[in-house]
Amino acid sequence: MKIISVVVPVYNEEDNIEHFYQSIVDVFDKLDYEFELDFVDDGSKDRSREILRELEKKDSRVQSIFLAKNSGHQLALTCGLDHADGDAVIMMDGDMQHPPELIPTLLAKWEEGYEVVQTIRKTTEGVSALKKLTSAYYYKLLNMVSSVHIQEGGSDFRLMDQVVVKAFRRYREHARFIRGMIGSMGFKQTQIEFVAPKRFAGVSKFSPKKMLHLAIDGVMAFSTLPLRIGLYIGVGCGLLSILLILHVIVSKFVFDDAVAGWATITASILFFGGVQLTVLGIMGEYISRIYEEVKNRPLYLIGRGKPKDEK
Ligand code: UDP
Ligand code: MG
Repeated sequence: MKIISVVVPVYNEEDNIEHFYQSIVDVFDKLDYEFELDFVDDGSKDRSREILRELEKKDSRVQSIFLAKNSGHQLALTCGLDHADGDAVIMMDGDMQHPPELIPTLLAKWEEGYEVVQTIRKTTEGVSALKKLTSAYYYKLLNMVSSVHIQEGGSDFRLMDQVVVKAFRRYREHARFIRGMIGSMGFKQTQIEFVAPKRFAGVSKFSPKKMLHLAIDGVMAFSTLPLRIGLYIGVGCGLLSILLILHVIVSKFVFDDAVAGWATITASILFFGGVQLTVLGIMGEYISRIYEEVKNRPLYLIGRGKPKDEK
């Protein structure tokens, strides 16, 4: 029988894990596949670890990896993919926003011969209008600047054939936007749509700061356009300043009207100062990323996952 690995990053999900586990068991009970459930505990501070250990004892199909600190959703997923050795691997969130009932559909597409089955979130129930709006515009911007097409509403709920997982393991960059990476890898890919329900319990573990970092990583990892924007602005300003110089020369020699003009000077100093700082900032963003990559530190560290009270 084919084995399916289900990879689930969890961070402080004490009220979700058992319910999630049960729904995975229920789904696979009706299917002709074996499954292994690979949780990656992303440095949880609540009772998630204890709950995961209990599950492991109860059901040998459950395995957990405990990261030494909170490394973020994308790296936790990466760790899970590094360890998942099923014939196909399904990655999903542990808060029921990626409905386990969709798993049979993912598997059916895989059996049709697709190597990546990507899910597209059509809508999310109970999400604020602001998040919907920023998300829609983010994907528009991303696709404008990016060298690969990244589908709007793309989520990290997908099935990958073991072949794709092996290929993915060869990508070792730190700042990663897994959606874009897998999209750019080729292979036979297909998509299915779903409506994400509300979280089963708890609140989102993605703080606005984490969201912003992921968004910036997405743009930076797939585009050097921001660097070129700096160049375009620079050239534009250069041309403008030539016009300005011409204007000054004509005023002086043709109309003999040399105004004191400190305002013009201050304005242009401010303007060019701003442009230079912007460009420097963009370069800084890329350089800091280069620095992160050349340090070549491990992407994540695995701890022993001892509950607090265990010696
Ligand atoms: N998660 C994680 N590390 C983090 C943040 C989130 O492993 O630093 C997990 C979280 O437990 C959940 C999944 O990633 O299983 C998606 O996170 P969440 O539901 O908070 O994100 P949202 O659905 O709000 O975008
Ligand atoms: Mg969620």
